[in-house]
Amino acid sequence: MDSHARVVVIGGGVTGCAILYHLAKMGWTDVVLLERKELTSGSSWHAAGSLFALTSPSNAAILQKYTIELYPRLEAESGQSCGYHPTGGVHLARTDDQVMALRLLQSRGKRNGIESEFIDLAEARRIAPILNTDGLKAVLHEPLKGYCDPAGVTQAYAKAARDMGAKVHRFTPVVETRQTPDGEWDVVTPAGTIHAQVLVNAAGLWAREVAALAGIKLPLLPVEHHYMVTETIPEIADMKGELPNISEPSGGYYSRQEGKGLLLGAYEATCTHWAEEGTPANFGHELLPDDLQRIEVNLARAIEALPCLQTAGIKRVINGPMIFSPDLGPLLGPYPGLKNYFCAAGVMTGFNQGAGIGKVMAEWIIEGEPSLDVLFWDVARFGAWAGKRYTKARTKYFYEHRTDIGYPFQEFEAGRPIRTFPIHDKLAKAGAVFGLNFGFEYPVWYARNGEAREDRYGFNRGNWFEAVGEECRAVRDGVGLLEISTFAKYLVCGKAAETWLDRILANRMPKKAGKTVLSPMLSRKGRLIGDFTVTRLDEHRFLLLGSGPMQRYHMRWFEENLLADGSVKVENLSARYAGLQIAGPASRSLLQKLAEDDVGANAFPFLSGREMGIGSCPEAIVVRVSFTGELGYEIYMPAEYQRGVYDALIAEGKTFDLRHTGSRALLSMRVEKGFPSWGPDLSPDYSAFEPGLGRFLRLDKPDFIGKAEAERRAKAGPAERLASFVVEADGVDCFGGEAIYRDGKLAGYVTSGSYGHRLEESVALGYVRTPYFEDGAAFEVEVLGERRPARMSARSCYDPDGGLMRR
Ligand SMILES: Cc1cc2nc3c(=O)[nH]c(=O)nc-3n(C[C@H](O)[C@H](O)[C@H](O)COP(=O)(O)OP(=O)(O)OC[C@H]3O[C@@H](n4cnc5c(N)ncnc54)[C@H](O)[C@@H]3O)c2cc1C
Repeated sequence: MDSHARVVVIGGGVTGCAILYHLAKMGWTDVVLLERKELTSGSSWHAAGSLFALTSPSNAAILQKYTIELYPRLEAESGQSCGYHPTGGVHLARTDDQVMALRLLQSRGKRNGIESEFIDLAEARRIAPILNTDGLKAVLHEPLKGYCDPAGVTQAYAKAARDMGAKVHRFTPVVETRQTPDGEWDVVTPAGTIHAQVLVNAAGLWAREVAALAGIKLPLLPVEHHYMVTETIPEIADMKGELPNISEPSGGYYSRQEGKGLLLGAYEATCTHWAEEGTPANFGHELLPDDLQRIEVNLARAIEALPCLQTAGIKRVINGPMIFSPDLGPLLGPYPGLKNYFCAAGVMTGFNQGAGIGKVMAEWIIEGEPSLDVLFWDVARFGAWAGKRYTKARTKYFYEHRTDIGYPFQEFEAGRPIRTFPIHDKLAKAGAVFGLNFGFEYPVWYARNGEAREDRYGFNRGNWFEAVGEECRAVRDGVGLLEISTFAKYLVCGKAAETWLDRILANRMPKKAGKTVLSPMLSRKGRLIGDFTVTRLDEHRFLLLGSGPMQRYHMRWFEENLLADGSVKVENLSARYAGLQIAGPASRSLLQKLAEDDVGANAFPFLSGREMGIGSCPEAIVVRVSFTGELGYEIYMPAEYQRGVYDALIAEGKTFDLRHTGSRALLSMRVEKGFPSWGPDLSPDYSAFEPGLGRFLRLDKPDFIGKAEAERRAKAGPAERLASFVVEADGVDCFGGEAIYRDGKLAGYVTSGSYGHRLEESVALGYVRTPYFEDGAAFEVEVLGERRPARMSARSCYDPDGGLMRR
């Protein structure tokens, strides 16, 4: 066996083979795949092979589209059939909410060039003669749906990769992985040891066991999944073409043609976990005992749409295991803190996503970063807090609700609470309804006296609408208090802290202690990978504030780029430090009641920050920034002080009618202000220029990561630009993904939306292609399938000059 390889991929399922293929395709042919048994010996051999592209988030849809469109080319390249059947497919809707969900799915698909159209019931019956259309309110046709042969696809990737020079060793289990002093890997098998620059864990059902060989834990748990195949169904046998795939939001089933019969897959109403303590080493081309009783509910739902199932004979029942992460998304990318170790595990729909995953993984390994934002699949999105209990509760919930409609703002209770900051009980008493942010509970809105502390989801404005309106108006007129402990906080210290930060971040670091700057962080290819508020505390100490869910990603980046001499240290304070924000015209007077320093307008101007005593906390850090557009302050403190500081703010705040506010009020206010937020509006899909952060780059600095590419992009100008919109909404606000039109042409897409309670108008942020960007121009935004008039504003819609937050 080979003694060296650039990359060793562990696992010969569809994921490992797709990665091997893409590595070879990108020119890395000195790559080896090790498979413990025959290829496909995990979940891959018994998959149903159903395909679809319309999904959320947007980049998952792009990668699924890429995967499906690759099959004909892969067949041609490898000479191996993928059994690819581009049958198209239909999504059925029986309720108004399901119709709205499909309209939103369609609108989001437009951004990614994924075609779909609503067809009438007669047309639905024509293309799917077995379909009972009684009770259907809408049918959405998606041409990219279809199915493939799972074994054929896996073999085709492997064959094409081998043809390009990659090697595949079957019956070669990896029994040990040892990191060598050079940061590379010795991969031990009974047939010998391979020294690899990079290791990829694509071990599917055994990803946990392979991770353990390197001393790491992945939040994964296998579940059982059933599908059945019927005998010949006469209507299908009589069809000229093939039956389209059929699925139903909230139906809990999917179906497609198999031979002259039907394949019906079911997300069982009660999820059954499998091999919780570890996947048996000897498991391979085997199935689990089937139990048709477990899919009775799903079958009943499917019979409503496909009555032929009532009489069709059952030819085969499959019950196979597959392995999931807590949100059912894959765990991809470099494992934080472990050099040259990549994960590609927890892949739920490997035949829909395999090529997309293979492509981004190969780019990540070879070029250092994927070509599009895959943060929603990044292994770094979970921390150690995603333990076994959480993983079990979440995989159960999301599996059982796999086909449910996703509502805007939806939070999921399963597995919570995990982590709370010290004032959690006090906030709950004040009426807080909580969401989850990197394992921590945080308030999203506050129920008023007598109101139920619960979200009731729908596509129209939620039950929190009026309460959030009051929260926003309180911030506009007096003062609001927001718990912001879930923001990420980092302390960067050391003699070289300033020069290091000047290299890591694109803005120039403040020269004077007490100054605050906003700074984008760029990847080597000039992509936006972070945006931080940076405060210089003293000569050698800086506080960085950033996105909470990004903290493991950011720590991975910081650690990768630390200086070898140890002259800079980065400490993640996020879980140890709590935060409280006060905002509104009365916030200064309130702060002064507790602050040991003078916080007057001159002594403590906008964009400054410093350590000072606040109430009972002698070592708080106060930063004067604003995400609401009003005068405001963020107060950070070691978590043990939070209860005391909170009590003092509440006591002193009585004079100012202080009101608790949640993140939904913050969303409304920041969208009114036109402030983009990490996640919905900011991501590695953009450089600093599209969202308007170019003004924070200092291209005259000697050097910083991503500078060369930033210079190139500055010259070329952005292809699309972020703009504010006031939308003539009718009881439904945008929430992201809606298509934007100008003069009837697709011009862009919404990234964030809300009702603006201060402006008393519906507002949105969205990207439009640069030629369409024009202040004051008339657009249309497709809100749940209906094009609503909208006006673009190049400037902030609320207090455009920013006088309120600077006062
Ligand atoms: C019943 C069922 C129906 C499904 N239907 C669909 C569908 O319609 N569409 C779809 O897209 N997906 C479907 N899936 C999901 C799909 O099967 C998985 O997403 C996919 O197979 C995951 O592939 P993988 O390569 O990540 O993992 P696996 O297929 O589990 O492959 C992992 C491989 O790693 C090898 N390995 C493990 N440990 C070692 C080691 N130490 N050394 C060497 N090799 C090792 C294993 O032998 C195995 O071959 C279905 C799954 C099930 C169970």
